[in-house]
Amino acid sequence: MKKLAALLLALALLLSLAACGGNNGSADLEENGTQNTQDPQDTVPEPEPEPEPEPYDIYDPTVMPEGGSRDGVTYVAYDGIVEHLFFHPVIVYPELAFDGDSQEKGLDDYMVTATEFSRILESVYQRGYVLVDIADVWSETTDENGNAVMVRNTLYLPEGKKPLILSYDDTNYYEYMLENGFAYKLILGEDGKIASWGKDPQGNEVVSRDLDAIPMLDKFVEEHPDFSPFGAKACLSVTGYQGILGYRTQTDKTVEWTDEMEAFRQSEIQAVKPIIAELKRTGWTFGSHTFGHIRLDSCSMEKVQSDTQRWFDEVGSLVGPTNVLFYPHGSRPDGDDWKQTGPVFQYLQGQGFRILCSVGIESFSAIKKDISAVICDRLHPDGTTLRSKYVDQRYGQFYDVREIFDWDARPDYGVNWQ
Ligand SMILES: [Zn+2]
Repeated sequence: MKKLAALLLALALLLSLAACGGNNGSADLEENGTQNTQDPQDTVPEPEPEPEPEPYDIYDPTVMPEGGSRDGVTYVAYDGIVEHLFFHPVIVYPELAFDGDSQEKGLDDYMVTATEFSRILESVYQRGYVLVDIADVWSETTDENGNAVMVRNTLYLPEGKKPLILSYDDTNYYEYMLENGFAYKLILGEDGKIASWGKDPQGNEVVSRDLDAIPMLDKFVEEHPDFSPFGAKACLSVTGYQGILGYRTQTDKTVEWTDEMEAFRQSEIQAVKPIIAELKRTGWTFGSHTFGHIRLDSCSMEKVQSDTQRWFDEVGSLVGPTNVLFYPHGSRPDGDDWKQTGPVFQYLQGQGFRILCSVGIESFSAIKKDISAVICDRLHPDGTTLRSKYVDQRYGQFYDVREIFDWDARPDYGVNWQ
């Protein structure tokens, strides 16, 4: 009897497997069988009406609001320093990031936890910083000799406020990040807003607006609209070799590219398009971080050219034009010397990049005199600086590290401050 039951079960499994394969004969069988007990009406659900997006205003900070005020806030001209902080995707499950594996040290060095990120946002907000988009800080114009030059724009800010650029590097959600406690990708939540999708340490799927620096900033600005008086968020610095925003939109020239691979790639491209559109609608912008995260201080010109073209083909084609380039590893072209305008810099400028960003110990910027371009350094809240003895000196205007450092999450590598 037991044997017969097992045989019947095996037969049923076989039939249902065949049905999944799309064989017509078996599909007919299935329709008449006992498996299909669902009411046909249940199998074709009414399409949910698309949620109407909340309107989102974006203003130009280089234009004084009419009458010098907007929404009862007085605006004043500002020509001082524009601070610039950059982040990587944030660690949301420290137990996965800091688990003693070979990546732990690197993650401690270059990332912040979601807790630290949230504390930093609160602190810069409390200290009077307001967000501006990097592309609004400088413009290209023509000098008296007819040459294109970059100029620093006067910004019109709410009285008493200080401008802050944010950029997020490597918001690609690389494969190595997935098992290390980061979000897997961005999605549109049921409310139509950007959320992250990922898995918790137990393997459960989690959709949230609190577990990635992108929706976290969206939410923070919703709760504190005066933190972003122009609607700016951050500039997303993306590579392309593992796709963008968690979608595997890349080709791979090291393997034989099959129709199946291309079909999957196209489905990922279709899936990421509405995410990009919603990000852009709500104040996020995009910059290049090169296609392959290449070192521009040492790569050959040929490599830089083919990499740049591939970024345009596979990333620029999705996120749209940009004049911002973020150097991978912070390494500047031409021997890592910003004063040089060597062939690699000239090539990159010729491809449309005007704002070329490295990493440094202050929000330094300089307009190049011999070519239309701006070079700028960014500060980097991360494990290296949060543990540094210089943290008060270099980051004291943004936060007191004692209120930021995530003692509960980070490994015990010690700190160099009291
Ligand atoms: Zn990077």
